[in-house]
Amino acid sequence: MADRYQSLAHNPIGKFIVKNLGLPNPPVLERWNEGDPLVKGTVLIGAAAGGTLGKKLTATLKSSGITSVGVRADGKTYKGLVFDATGISDTAGLADMQQFFTPALRSLARSGRLVVIGTLPEQAGSETAAIAQRALEGFVRSAGKEVGGNGSTANLVYVGAGAEDALGSTLEFLLSPKSAFVDGQVIRLGLTELVDADKVADPAKPLAGKVALITGASRGLGEAMARTLHRDGAAIVGLDVPQLSGELEAVMAELGGTAIAEDITSPEAPKVIAAALKKAHGGVDIVVHNAGITRDKRLKNMKTENWNLVIDISVGAPQRITAELLKQKLIRPGGRVIGISSIAGIAGNNGQTSYGTAKAGVIGFVNDLSKRVAKDGITVNAIAPGFIETDMVKTMPLGIREAGRRLSSLSQGGQPIDVAEAIAWYANPGSSAISGNVVRVCGQALIGA
Ligand code: NAD
Repeated sequence: MADRYQSLAHNPIGKFIVKNLGLPNPPVLERWNEGDPLVKGTVLIGAAAGGTLGKKLTATLKSSGITSVGVRADGKTYKGLVFDATGISDTAGLADMQQFFTPALRSLARSGRLVVIGTLPEQAGSETAAIAQRALEGFVRSAGKEVGGNGSTANLVYVGAGAEDALGSTLEFLLSPKSAFVDGQVIRLGLTELVDADKVADPAKPLAGKVALITGASRGLGEAMARTLHRDGAAIVGLDVPQLSGELEAVMAELGGTAIAEDITSPEAPKVIAAALKKAHGGVDIVVHNAGITRDKRLKNMKTENWNLVIDISVGAPQRITAELLKQKLIRPGGRVIGISSIAGIAGNNGQTSYGTAKAGVIGFVNDLSKRVAKDGITVNAIAPGFIETDMVKTMPLGIREAGRRLSSLSQGGQPIDVAEAIAWYANPGSSAISGNVVRVCGQALIGA
């Protein structure tokens, strides 16, 4: 849906008013278009002494077609600033990071990217190192708030033992405009048993040969996911309620996909979906449990039937469907199961007890299942969207809607493509070290921070 304030803030009169009244001034966020280079510019790399990544970082960026340098040149601007903090073993060592970023920030381009790479604190080897590594989180969250005004973001990647070679897909995502609305996030690689990343034969079609099931695919975020995974080469199987079968079929016809008209809460749904996947493709590689609804009411006015519906659609049905697909061994090795949580499931939200409960349940689903299926080479993660411009947010009262948009480091709502790009990153064959993660796509919203 349209953000009128943002359009107004960018016309000449609006600009004048926004500036003089000190109102939020949402930056125009750069987004990725097919055919664009991943990073339109150079990335500057820095490192604390004793880091585990060393030259690997430059080599990883190079193999992704991203140009990087290790020495800052005066007068040059950089599209990304990447700091290898894995060598920081005590809090005094954190100054290395400050000394890299302070001068470099002055040469950060618009829609620039700050990425810090650390070691999982629980694997840091000593108490002092664990404390220093944990401190990185506060750094990126605060830095994100400082650089948001020009559309830039800051994120942290913790690398577990053995996952040092699996950074490629994550750096491609975080450094490119594909992560326009991902800000202040912590991504953990190597939380579960590691499997070798699959090679991507064609970087323009990383999902070629893969089959993706997306629930709630007729509109909103689900439709954007279907289009994006299709862009990346996947065959799409879209599902939606029978009432929206016309809309679903139209989207699937455009993408050459298969439509399943089914209510995911029906008792037959798991078997119906399994049979459809078996028939169309013999199995599935990527399962995105995107369908979700809100039936917001204060707890004191809550109806049990609505409570049950919200929870069953977001988490009960996804759990039953995944269990059936696993039982029938339809999720192939290298598979991806992806849930959609919400910042309301992380921080809670006034008037959203059912939704917050359901979306926190999605996080429980990810935590539990990711450990159980790691041995089969299947990853399980979730995205927790913040305020994204879809039909769902049209029903919000105006005041809450405006607050949702402005109270973030980027002062605007995200677009469905922002969530879809994050799904494509999880789905990427190179993302096999990412499991058990819940990453917010929220522009660093104040809610859920
Ligand atoms: P939407 O209402 O536009 O789309 C949701 C889709 O799910 C619809 O096509 C709907 O028909 C389908 N669906 C609902 N119940 C179903 C059922 N029982 N069986 C099959 N399909 C069903 O909403 P959206 O904004 O695109 O949201 C997509 C997901 O993202 C949801 O899980 C939502 O909770 C989550 N989310 C959205 C936002 C946001 O700001 N838009 C924020 C946080 C989380």
